[in-house]
Amino acid sequence: MRSALGGPRVLLRRLREVMAEPVSAQDRLDKIVVLIAANMVAEVCSVYVLRVDGTLELYATEGLNRSAVHLTVMRIDEGLVGTVAREAEPISLSNAQAHPAFSYRPETGEEIYHSFLGVPILRAGNTLGVLVVQNRAHRSYTEEEIEALQTTAMVLAEIIASGELTALALPGAEPAARRPLHLTGSALSEGIGLGHVVLHEPRIEVTKVIADDVPGELDRLDHAVETLRASIDTMLEDEGVARVGEHREILEAYRMFAHDRGWINRMREAVMTGLTAEGAVERVQSDTRARMLRMTDPYLRERMHDLDDLANRLLRQLTGRAGGPEKMALPDNAIIVARNMSPAALLDYDRTRIRGLVLEEGAATSHLTIVARALNIAAVGHIENIVGLVDAGDPVIVDGVSGEVHVRPPTDVEGVYVEKVRFRAKRLEQYAALRDVPTVTRDGVAIDLHLNAGLLVDLPHIDETGASGIGLFRTELQFMIASAFPRTNEQLKLYRAVLDAADGRPVVFRTLDIGGDKVLPYMRAIEEENPALGWRAIRLGLDRPGLLRSQVRALLRAANGRELRLIFPMVAAVEEFDRARHIVERELTHLRRHGHGLPERVLVGVMLEVPSLLFQLDALFERIDFASVGSNDLVQFLFAADRGNPRVADRFDPLSPAALNALKTIADAAERHGKSVTLCGELASRPLEALALAAIGYRKLSLSPAAYGPVKAMFLDLDLGAVARLVEPLLKSEAHIASLRPHLKAFAETTGLPL
Ligand code: PEP
Ligand code: MG
Repeated sequence: MRSALGGPRVLLRRLREVMAEPVSAQDRLDKIVVLIAANMVAEVCSVYVLRVDGTLELYATEGLNRSAVHLTVMRIDEGLVGTVAREAEPISLSNAQAHPAFSYRPETGEEIYHSFLGVPILRAGNTLGVLVVQNRAHRSYTEEEIEALQTTAMVLAEIIASGELTALALPGAEPAARRPLHLTGSALSEGIGLGHVVLHEPRIEVTKVIADDVPGELDRLDHAVETLRASIDTMLEDEGVARVGEHREILEAYRMFAHDRGWINRMREAVMTGLTAEGAVERVQSDTRARMLRMTDPYLRERMHDLDDLANRLLRQLTGRAGGPEKMALPDNAIIVARNMSPAALLDYDRTRIRGLVLEEGAATSHLTIVARALNIAAVGHIENIVGLVDAGDPVIVDGVSGEVHVRPPTDVEGVYVEKVRFRAKRLEQYAALRDVPTVTRDGVAIDLHLNAGLLVDLPHIDETGASGIGLFRTELQFMIASAFPRTNEQLKLYRAVLDAADGRPVVFRTLDIGGDKVLPYMRAIEEENPALGWRAIRLGLDRPGLLRSQVRALLRAANGRELRLIFPMVAAVEEFDRARHIVERELTHLRRHGHGLPERVLVGVMLEVPSLLFQLDALFERIDFASVGSNDLVQFLFAADRGNPRVADRFDPLSPAALNALKTIADAAERHGKSVTLCGELASRPLEALALAAIGYRKLSLSPAAYGPVKAMFLDLDLGAVARLVEPLLKSEAHIASLRPHLKAFAETTGLPL
């Protein structure tokens, strides 16, 4: 490297001194650009800072006209500096003026400089500004120089992120680092939460980035990489770890990266420019994030995520926190921010303090979402890079109705939301006032509304809402949030508590629905190409009947002297129902023989969620006592669109004639056979969809607790006959109708129906 002043390490050491000096922010920046220019033998060194308005402002320069500082402002789509900021990649040119993006700024006097090296100032993958050096001569900057400048940019990132430059800015043109952000994802759980960020996996704060002893730091890095490799090997060999499936795939990817020479070398090179081992890991991680955010290929993005996770592990190793993130006490009004998390992890927090949840991933029908809804926590998913965009303690608003998230909101936005929260509280009071009003439409049709549940925390909702009962109790949730198989006694206790809370109102227990997306952390996963279509739910129950038998026994015993209603998930053929029912009968006989108390009566049904049953409805309804429609799965299988995959989950409208006709066929068959049918998928939890379901004949719906009030209020105002008359011809129409949604929306609008 052509450095006159001792190379990048000396530069970093000098920078550290400047950082410690008690000078103004402007003086500090001015000193830094002088140091960099001298160290890199460049005539020019400039710092551009990204502002809240999305433009780049010259904050300091050595070599360009000083009078241009704070006056030169350029758009992010302008010039070489804009390109560096936009692409978050360095640009190195020996003849900058020949580059098509070059833009000439007379006030800076820069036309005499031919060579240009610009690097983004990055933090957690986000661009905060651009650092540039220029030379009069045509010269090619070496890889080492580019590397050194990127390292230096890290120090500037800390200055910008600290907020100390804000005092230098005009109002409305502050540095963007801590700007308010308005982000839109998908609404997962209704509600509005105002609070402060708690990172589910706190970022490891690297406090020391500049090395005192470079060979020592290289040793530390090498040692940490070795330990990391060994720990991945141990995890892969561990019998307790799911050996196949996704978990193993991730570990295999970790192992591959942990041995990747390119990755290790990039970190080692960063140390050689003068960073500590953790500083180097963070630098390379930030570059990876920046690339990931600009990547469209989902597979490559996933691999980048793995690499990001691995960098976090390495940081934990280096900072002595290898045991994983420690649980900390939550502040009041906590908004949990995570890439994703397990339902058990959410339940681990003190939920009385949680106001919201923001995820980079998440899906509307995932179990984390179901738990968030049960806990009444506003949740939004698919907010890209949210973990990198916020700092712990940042004020944030989660709008689980519209799917919006406001980070560091301006006061006017906050004011609007405070008002919204007040309004919602009033609406909830109004719903509560409807508690004892029977759900009967304006034209006199009674609609039976039940609740979906699965956890103890759901039970108070029965009394709060005044629901007719529990239309679906998902028994697998207890299994999913446990760290080991719940014993029969624990199952028995939960089922008893549920029946006690229902206090004579009907409860429909669904036997274990595991497999597919419902993974038990302590059970070995079986590698399957298509787990949703695989060995799951009743298939597993019939092939390995031990588990099903003991669950059925616990249910029968819990219902001693009371009524027990049971359904089996994922039944695809009538014979499967026969076999499952046989298991129930055998258990009844067993209990009777051993003198145990028995339920007063046992009703057995199916969860109708596999399309094959649509073609065996008569045979099925002859056998079952009642049916429950699982629209989440039925719609997923009908359209062959994975409910957990955001790219396709919302691609097909359940209000299309195809889906509604399928659902109507079921309701018609139930009526013909005089059997009761309840719809308990998420479809029933949305007022417009609930309206469509009633119009095609459903009189029993089972909803998530938060949906109860809005759906009930809609029914109380509804002229059901009128909407049925609208829907019937549309479903029979020969003309192609993509969806009934616009028709139903128009109906609701013209009749003033609250949706
Ligand atoms: C369904 O599939 O609609 C259903 C209610 O069950 P789950 O969401 O638990 O699969
Ligand atoms: Mg289902």
